[in-house]
Amino acid sequence: MSRIAYVNGRYLPLRDAAVHVEDRGYQFADSVYEVCEVRDGQLIDERRHLDRLERSLGELRIRMPMARAALSVVLHEVVARNRIGYGTVYLQIGRGVARRDHAFPPLQTPPSLVVTARPLNRARNEASAEKGIAVISLPDNRWGRVDIKTTGLLPNVLARQAAIEQGARDAWFVDRDGFVTEAASANAFIVTAHGTLVTRQVDHGILRGITRTVTFEAIKAQGLALEERAFKLEEAYKAREAFVTSASQIVLPVVTINGRTIGDGKPGPVAMALRREFHRFAEAG
Ligand code: PLP
Repeated sequence: MSRIAYVNGRYLPLRDAAVHVEDRGYQFADSVYEVCEVRDGQLIDERRHLDRLERSLGELRIRMPMARAALSVVLHEVVARNRIGYGTVYLQIGRGVARRDHAFPPLQTPPSLVVTARPLNRARNEASAEKGIAVISLPDNRWGRVDIKTTGLLPNVLARQAAIEQGARDAWFVDRDGFVTEAASANAFIVTAHGTLVTRQVDHGILRGITRTVTFEAIKAQGLALEERAFKLEEAYKAREAFVTSASQIVLPVVTINGRTIGDGKPGPVAMALRREFHRFAEAG
C-alpha cells in the first residue's frame, strides 16, 4: 500500500507529494511542526499538541492554515488513509510560498500545510526501552528560542549524527553554564540518589515537551518528588536513573552518558513504571 500525504489541500501518494521550491519552510525553515503518537489508531494528546502548535505559530506570526477542527479532521484522515495502528503523525505549517526574500511575504500569502503519517515498530521500541540507550553530551549551539517548535533543526540533526557515530543513540545538549538543556529530540530527566525526579525548568532553552508535561502527572500520581530545575552532567553521572521523553518514544531509559554508567547500567524502575503508566494520563482520540 502506498503512503498518502496531505499537501496544501490534497491527499496524494507520497511519491507525488511535493512542496514548491519557493516554500519558505524549505528555504528558510520558516515553519513549525508537531509530531503526535498514534496508538490503536488514535491520536495521543492531540489537544495539547494543537495548543503548542498555536503557540509556536503565534510567536512567529504565522496564520493557522485552517480552523483547528478542520486541521484535526486532516490529521485523522491521514492516519486513517495510511492505516496507522501504532506510529506517528507529522504536521508542518509554514509561512507559504513567495519569491525569495527574508522579510515576511504579503499578509494574504496562504500558509502551507503538510501532514504525513508513518508506522513505528512497537516491538523494536519496547526492546530499546528494555535495554536502555546511551547518550553523549554536546554544547548547545541552537538559537535562543527553542521553545518554538520550528523546523530549523540543523544543530539537532548534527547532534544525533554525532551520537550515532560515537556508538550512542542520542545527544544531550549542555548550555554555556554547564547545565543540561534537553536531548536532540526529547526532554531529559534524572532520578537523584534520594529518588527525586529532576528536569530543566521551562524557559526559552527547551521545548515544552507534551510527553514531559503528561509524565509529570504520572510522577505525581506515584507520589514521587519532582523538581523543575537545571542540573549539570556531574549530577547526572551520580543519578540513580536517567531517561528521556518524547511523543515517539514516550519514556526511554538512558543507561550511559558519555560512556559513564548510570545507576546499575540497566533501565531503572522509576523510568519503566512511568513508561508503563504514561497512557493512563494521556488523552486519546
Ligand atoms: N525537545 C526537543 C528538542 C524535541 O524535538 C522534542 C520532540 O520532538 C521534545 C523535546 C519532546 O517533545 P514532545 O514530548 O512534545 O514530543
